[in-house]
Amino acid sequence: MDASPCVKLKRQPQGVPVADDFEIGEAEVASTGVECRSLYISLDPYLRGRLSGRHLTGLISPGDPMTSETVLEVVESGHGFVAGDIVRGHAPWQHRMRLPPESVHPVDRQIRPASLALGVVGMPGLTAFAGVHRLLQPSSGETLLVSAAAGPVGATVAQLGRIAGAHVIGMAGSDEKCRWLREVAKLDAVIHYKREDLRESLDCHCPEGIDMYFDNVGGDVLQAAMERLALGARVALCGLMSQYNTDEPPAGPNPGLIIRARAIVRGLVVYDHEALRPEMEVSIQREIENGHLAYKEDISEGLETAPEAFCRLMRGDNFGKALVKVV
Ligand code: NDP
Repeated sequence: MDASPCVKLKRQPQGVPVADDFEIGEAEVASTGVECRSLYISLDPYLRGRLSGRHLTGLISPGDPMTSETVLEVVESGHGFVAGDIVRGHAPWQHRMRLPPESVHPVDRQIRPASLALGVVGMPGLTAFAGVHRLLQPSSGETLLVSAAAGPVGATVAQLGRIAGAHVIGMAGSDEKCRWLREVAKLDAVIHYKREDLRESLDCHCPEGIDMYFDNVGGDVLQAAMERLALGARVALCGLMSQYNTDEPPAGPNPGLIIRARAIVRGLVVYDHEALRPEMEVSIQREIENGHLAYKEDISEGLETAPEAFCRLMRGDNFGKALVKVV
């Protein structure tokens, strides 16, 4: 049997995942398909939901290989691909594999390093681009508040908002993240939500209320933002970082807060916006080249580091797009 090292789920995590929930094993390499080797594996918060069967893309059970979006190099020409092509696809956390041709997508040559196809110009970038341009639609001078603002989604939302002329306030959970948001991403204001009194800081930075809130976390941070919505506010509900590691249903924000502000609240699912990807790639790359949009990557080296790197992400200890560099 042709086999290759891979990462499998050993047992369902209880609470915050630990590295022992995963194991290194071997998986068979299929005999047909596009032969590839992994370059970068994307670690994403939604994977935690898959481990509990709470994500729309389905359950990963003990014994199953871990899978996520991956950037790969084509090893053998065929199926319309040439050896050396850089591609992306949903793939197991595995060194070598053959993938069904229909699940393999070329990575535009302009996207370099190729890891960006998993971050600021990948799925997180598309989430941010759709969230800002389709859901929030900022006008110059409006106040935009973003949670998990130093992550690939939040940082891109915040900077696209700034480029559109909004007054942008980011929330993040470490000194290093807050400094980066102020000095590199050039946000107007930053709140260290773990150190500051969140409600006092929001009152200080948003005296006229919040026109747009992009929520990546849910819970009390969402509640505090909703309490301060300005008339006609828009809220994009994108993620629930504060809930992924728990089975307890949340104490949700009071719908009365939405009614009082006549706010428009919309759920964001990136898969609805795939048609926007080419426009997003061109637009975000242009902003990076112009020096208007910064990004950060948090790369751990080696397939065997993937379990602990994923656990760091779910503890909130990553700073930037969480990736594993396989080779
Ligand atoms: P990040 O790299 O930003 O990682 C998550 C961050 O969340 C952490 O680093 C941490 O930063 C913050 N955080 C806040 N509260 C908690 C908590 N209780 N436990 C752990 N971390 C916490 O992730 P992404 O940018 O990739 O994703 C951001 C959000 O967007 C996620 O909720 C994700 O699920 C969602 N998403 C939704 C999509 C959709 O289609 N709706 C598509 C893509 C992503 P800090 O130190 O600042 O607290």
